[in-house]
Amino acid sequence: MSKRSEQVSAEACTSFGAERPELESYPNREISLGSLAISRALPVRDRRLVGPWCLLDRFGPLTFAEGKPMDVAPHPHIGLQTVTWLLDGEVLHDDSLGSQSVLRPGAVNVMTSGGGIAHAEQTPLANSGRLNGVQLWVALPDSHRHMPAEFAHVPDVPVVDQRGGRAHVFAGSLLDARSAAPHFTDLLGADLQLHPHGTIEVPLRPAFEHALVVLEGDCTLEGEVLQPRVLYYLGTRRSAAAVSSRDGARVLLIGGPPFPEAILMWWNFVARTAEEIAQARADWEGRERFGDVPAYNGPRLVAPSLQRFARPNPAS
Ligand code: MN
Repeated sequence: MSKRSEQVSAEACTSFGAERPELESYPNREISLGSLAISRALPVRDRRLVGPWCLLDRFGPLTFAEGKPMDVAPHPHIGLQTVTWLLDGEVLHDDSLGSQSVLRPGAVNVMTSGGGIAHAEQTPLANSGRLNGVQLWVALPDSHRHMPAEFAHVPDVPVVDQRGGRAHVFAGSLLDARSAAPHFTDLLGADLQLHPHGTIEVPLRPAFEHALVVLEGDCTLEGEVLQPRVLYYLGTRRSAAAVSSRDGARVLLIGGPPFPEAILMWWNFVARTAEEIAQARADWEGRERFGDVPAYNGPRLVAPSLQRFARPNPAS
């Protein structure tokens, strides 16, 4: 190599399409929340966050003739937003701000805990006898994690129709649709509903990392069969994704820029230090900070012992 060429200040450029795109799979964990069976897609052992999304719980589909399959008594949150999206059925939300909302398919509930809120979630008395949905958590950035709590109910999230199906955009923006739900970092949350023999192709932002979870039906991603109850991590640097179905499917797509802050998750708290978690737990047990949820008829949840979780999720 000549002296001359060594002095050329050039950058190596590789086309995004030159490498096989990243696709990692993580099986969901089956857990129970009271009497409700949950399939937890996030966090899993080796994948704690996808963008700012730090929890993804799938419940249902199930049918019931009596009682209420969802009955989560008042409990506290800090440092996060809860995002609840239904495919079927109803969820009644009550919180310590006095907000009350019955969530139904097509709408999204976004609760911003900021520095502290308490809420309860249950199947309302008047119900369809069906329940099917997801709840996700968004980690709040340091600039907003101590803000006053707020609750938003968006009655109709935007829908984008394509020949192969339709996309409900319940968080952030996709194609030319933008959700009205308030968020404090860039993110994307969408429910891709594939018609039989349908394909949906969506543009992705290469700076975002993305993940897919099949909610119903059969689905392939660019020829790769996607199994139910598995989180598929797509990494960053993708500019598009195409999902297809033979008999029809619902697929959850989430994404966001890799979250730049290390977080600590313990119980219902997202924090930065163990001291913050211990203080939040003490405040809940001491009936400080979070307030009550008087609309809920019954005792509130008791925080787990801090000692059993002396090292809360250090990988988060
Ligand atoms: Mn909650």
